[in-house]
Order: sequence, then structure tokens, then C-alpha cells
Amino acid sequence: MNTGLVTASYIAASALFILALGGLSHQESARRGNFYGMLGMGLALLVTIIGVVTDNQLFLIGGMLVGGAIGWVLAKRVEMTQMPELVAILHSLVGLAAVFVGYANVLEHDSSITGVEQTIHSVETYVGILIGALTFSGSVAAYLKLSAKISGKPLHLPGRHFLNLGLLILAIWFGVLFVDAAASGGGLGWLLLMTLLALAFGVHMVVAIGGADMPVVVSMLNSYSGWAAAAMGFMLGNDLLIVVGALVGSSGAILSYIMCKAMNRKFVNVILGGFGSKSAAGDSAGPAGDAGDIKPIEAEEAAHLLAGAKEVMILPGYGMAVAQAQHTVFEISKKLRDQGVNVRFGIHPVAGRMPGHMNVLLAEAKVPYDIVFEMDEINEDFPNVDVSIVIGANDIVNPAAQEVPDSPIAGMPVLEPWHGKTTIVLKRGMSTGYAGVDNPLFYKENTRMLFGDAKDSVDALLKHLNE
Ligand code: NDP
Repeated sequence: MNTGLVTASYIAASALFILALGGLSHQESARRGNFYGMLGMGLALLVTIIGVVTDNQLFLIGGMLVGGAIGWVLAKRVEMTQMPELVAILHSLVGLAAVFVGYANVLEHDSSITGVEQTIHSVETYVGILIGALTFSGSVAAYLKLSAKISGKPLHLPGRHFLNLGLLILAIWFGVLFVDAAASGGGLGWLLLMTLLALAFGVHMVVAIGGADMPVVVSMLNSYSGWAAAAMGFMLGNDLLIVVGALVGSSGAILSYIMCKAMNRKFVNVILGGFGSKSAAGDSAGPAGDAGDIKPIEAEEAAHLLAGAKEVMILPGYGMAVAQAQHTVFEISKKLRDQGVNVRFGIHPVAGRMPGHMNVLLAEAKVPYDIVFEMDEINEDFPNVDVSIVIGANDIVNPAAQEVPDSPIAGMPVLEPWHGKTTIVLKRGMSTGYAGVDNPLFYKENTRMLFGDAKDSVDALLKHLNE
């Protein structure tokens, strides 16, 4: 294939990826954004297979068919609540691919490259494998944490900051030795040692991070997977891979920044495991009362309160996703709006288990975008709200973030329904949320607890509203 045509197609694919990112930044255009992304990837694959790869095409297509089939089945089977885990494990594959490409590059030593060019190539390969290996092991650890296969509690080894520093110094030192040895076709031993270090570093970095800070980890690993792809692009001399990797890397970095800002955390502190880790399971952030102080409510009475309200705020969280209650929640909002109640949805930036989780569920249930608000837009309105319904949310409505200075979530901005007239909390029991912190909201004077699976509770609410 003509190299000019390949370049033109790569530019077109890059433009489609930029349009995809632009589309994904608004709910209304997200579907279109996804479409552009698929089109761009389709074009990139096609041009690479027929225009760039010179041999073994059949082998390549066979591999793609097997990989594509596995991806298809996984995507079909995965529950919405398992999406964050799926994303984490997919990030690990990008990291693994970077490691493999890097090793293949070193094993196929190209003796025609010499001098400065050889040094640059060796540095690219080394950095690519380093980022790839830590993305791989970090993502696997994140997958295990998110799927609750290992504990979500932060694991802090003694002197962990020194350990990290030591690993970094060793990685740089091995890098210098590798670049030196690679000039004469050697250095594989240093590379293997560094890979082991990077794998250990990735696991250590993720297991040290506290539960409430996991959103930052997910977006950070997203960013790393992008940089790993960009490093692969440099190794292979593939411009499209560099552009796409940089797009993913920088958008993931921006998302990490937004997440940190939303949670009032400093990125460096999150990475070093300094937050979200002061206490395990809320031992220092106990509720302002005991279980005797909670005031349960039945669905009928809750429906009565809703029907008599003028201003209603719906605050969904992870439990709504687990119960798949979003469709009935939409029905309830529609019913109330038809009766002249002003219904709004308040979305916390880290609600659920992945960025935008609640927005995706509400869009799926056809909730109009203009009644869905970000936390910052509605937090000041709570004093005017008659009834707030908290559906399967916990950490994102936890006043301990403001009231308990030594709480693991202290300083994290939260939705503030307790400033309204009545808060009705829908959850199954008194369990803590992802951060493992007790929630004083459940014990407040104006809070009522509607116990049960969120889907059953909203079904009962709708039934009584219809009566
Ligand atoms: P939480 O995890 O804090 O709380 C969810 C609550 O839902 C639980 O307390 C649980 O209580 C309840 N629940 C679970 N299943 C059901 C059900 N079927 N019916 C009714 N209730 C149910 O969720 P939030 O959305 O409030 O907060 C998100 C948390 O996840 C934050 O700590 C955030 O940092 C973290 N996180 C977020 C990510 C993101 O990107 N958004 C990524 C990783 C972590 P009970 O068992 O008593 O019913």
C-alpha cells in the first residue's frame, strides 16, 4: 500500500479518535463519540493489516479473530456493575502488550541502528517495558480489589516510601546498564530484572491505596495504559500508536486530576497511599449515635412524603447499579413530575464504581439530561428540598467527610441532603460503603431508612404512588 495513503488514513483515524473523545465528554453526544471511536479503530486496523504489516497477515488475522471473539463474549456477559473490573483487566492487557512488543524488539536486535539512534531506541524500549509492566501488574491488582477478590483495605508495608524510592533508583540504574549493554546486542538480564521490579512496584502502588481513592487509581491506570501504547508507538516507529497513546494517556491524566479535585485529594498523596487509609472499616469515624437511633420508614409512608413534596432530589449510588433499579427510578421521577413536583437528580463525581457510572445508568433509563445535575450545581439547593431519596449510596452522602476530622474520607466533598427537610435512604442494611466508613447521615433527626433491595423498594414506592 502506498505510504502516502497509509499516512492519510492514519491522520483520518487520529481525527476520528479526537472526535470520539470530544463526543464522549457530553452525555448527549456520547453515543456518536463511541461510533467515531469504532470507526477510527476499524480504519486503523484495516490500514495497518493491509498497508503496514508485510508478512504473517493470516496469523495476525487469526489472532485478532480469537481476541475479538473473547472480547465480544466478555462484553456481552459483563454486568454493568462489573464494568470497572473489566476496564481494569483490559488496561492490564495494554500493559502486557507493551512488555511483549518491547521484548520482541530487543530479541530482534537491529544491528543497522548505531550511535545516538541506538541509545534513543534502547531508552524507548526500556521505558515502554517499564510502564507496560507496572500498568499490567497494577491493573491486575486493581481488578482483584474492585472485584473484591482481595481486600480493599490499604496494605502499608513498613518504610513503603523508601521501598518505592529504592525501586525507582534501581530501575534507573538497571536502565543505564541496559542501554550500555544493548549497544552490542545484550542487556536482556537487566531488562528482566527491571521487569520484575516494575511488576512489584505496580502491585505495591495499587494495594497501598485506600478504598475511597480507587477512582483515581482506575483513571491513573487508564492514563498509564495510554503512555504504554505511546511507548510502543515509539519502539515500532508507528505514528498512529504514538498519537492514540498520547490521547489516552493525557485524557486519563486529566480524568485523574478531575477525580482528585472532586475528592479534594492531592494526586501525589493518593499515589503514595497517604489518604483513604487512616482507619480500617470506620473504627475512628463512628456514627453520631447507635443503631437504636435510626428511624425506619415503610414504602407507603415514603410514597406519601414524596407525593406531598414540591422539591425532590434523587441521589443514586452504587447500590442502584447493583439492584438495577434505574428504570423504576425513572418511572417514579416521571410520575412525580407529571404531578407537578420538581424532581432533580444529584450526581457525585465518584458515585458508583467508575467515572460517569450513574450518568450511564440514568441515560440508559432515559432520564432527561436537563434534570441531572453535578454535585457542585445542586449542593446549595438542599435547604429548599422537601425530600431527598438516597438510592444505594453511602460514601457520597457521608457527613463524616465534613464532621469527623480524622475520618478516612475527611475533606472529600459530598452531597449534603441533611440540609433538606427529609432524607429517605434506600439500602438493605447498615453496611458501610466502599470506603468502609460508618455514615452519621443514617442517624440524623430528619433521616428515614427504607430497608430492602433498592429495586424492591423503588417498585413498592412506585406501586404506592400509583394507588
Ligand atoms: P458506596 O459503595 O459508598 O455504598 C453503596 C451502598 O449501597 C452500600 O452501603 C450498600 O449498603 C448499598 N447497596 C448495595 N447493594 C444494594 C442493593 N441491591 N440495594 C440497596 N442498596 C444496596 O457507594 P457510593 O456510590 O455512595 O460511593 C462510591 C464509592 O466507591 C466511593 O467510596 C468511591 O470512592 C468508590 N469508588 C468509585 C469509583 C468511581 O470511579 N466512581 C471507582 C472505585 C471506587 P447495604 O449493603 O446495607 O445495602
